[in-house]
Amino acid sequence: MSTSAPLDDVLDCLVIGAGPAGLTAATYLARYRRKVMVIDGGSSRARWIPASHNCPGFPFGVAGNDLLQRFRAQADEFAVPIVPTRIDTLTREGGDFVAGDSRHSWRARQVILATGVVDRLPEINDVEQAIASGVLRLCAVCDGYEARDEVIGVLGPGDVVMGHAEFLRTFSRQVTALDSQAGDAPAEALRQRADAGGIVLRGAPVRLTLRDGACHATFADGSCERFDTLYPVLGADAQSALARALHAGVDESGELRVDSSMQTSVAGLYAIGDVVSGLNQISVAVGHAALAATAVHRQLPPNKR
Ligand SMILES: Cc1cc2nc3c(=O)[nH]c(=O)nc-3n(C[C@H](O)[C@H](O)[C@H](O)COP(=O)(O)OP(=O)(O)OC[C@H]3O[C@@H](n4cnc5c(N)ncnc54)[C@H](O)[C@@H]3O)c2cc1C
Repeated sequence: MSTSAPLDDVLDCLVIGAGPAGLTAATYLARYRRKVMVIDGGSSRARWIPASHNCPGFPFGVAGNDLLQRFRAQADEFAVPIVPTRIDTLTREGGDFVAGDSRHSWRARQVILATGVVDRLPEINDVEQAIASGVLRLCAVCDGYEARDEVIGVLGPGDVVMGHAEFLRTFSRQVTALDSQAGDAPAEALRQRADAGGIVLRGAPVRLTLRDGACHATFADGSCERFDTLYPVLGADAQSALARALHAGVDESGELRVDSSMQTSVAGLYAIGDVVSGLNQISVAVGHAALAATAVHRQLPPNKR
């Protein structure tokens, strides 16, 4: 079920974001017989996943869009309204929260923010195809296993790229770290660390090209290297602005800090999934959702049968 009209009365809980985290939280809350609504901007990170092989319960893998459809069908089953729009403002009025887009506003006793992160991608032709074909991979924890024994490039700044390259040595002997902050000559300390880890270290390529099912990196000196897989580790932008406007606490990368029940430093405002400081994984996101939804239910006035 979907609706584009705001509810007239106060929601028990408004969930912002319909990725794995938000849809799971909404399903839990609906099953606790709470008045819940989901509002979603329609750009879950999970839509990029060609096939996930570490998602619990899917031994033969599952595509991100199929998974999202299943989460959505489950929320639908318990009549959760899902409104397709983007929330621009979140304020407090009296004891409630008021969330708004350019046309409507919604009032809720509690809010769960499940707004995720947006990956910073490198410049490469046909980026969507590069991700769909597994030439560009965005999560070594998710799919390092699928890249085993491939020729792997990792692109990012200094220590960050080296940390990821070291992790990827679990899966392949042929790992090259491309230091996006260095020209032709990466720092000596980084070179020593690369040597110790059995990693090739190079400076930043001037161009990346998707061609013949591989990523071709061209360097300033005219040389070129072919990678079966490139992992960019250029960071991500946490979608935490709504919570930050209410002065919720964040870590150094803008991801939200929460307590053991997933509550931010703002009472009644919960955060779950990738937008929370920690490991960005579907299994973590749905675990967060179960904790937050149950805490929200317990905080609300009893709804006895
Ligand atoms: C290429 C790739 C492969 C991956 N592979 C795996 C894997 O194999 N296994 C695994 O566990 N994880 C994998 N991940 C990570 C996984 O996709 C994320 O951990 C997961 O999607 C996080 O769920 P989430 O609900 O927190 O956020 P998201 O799924 O990103 O959903 C956030 C939602 O919030 C919405 N939103 C944001 N701001 C607003 C706003 N202001 N108003 C309304 N809506 C808003 C967005 O539009 C979006 O729909 C992969 C990620 C990528 C990119």
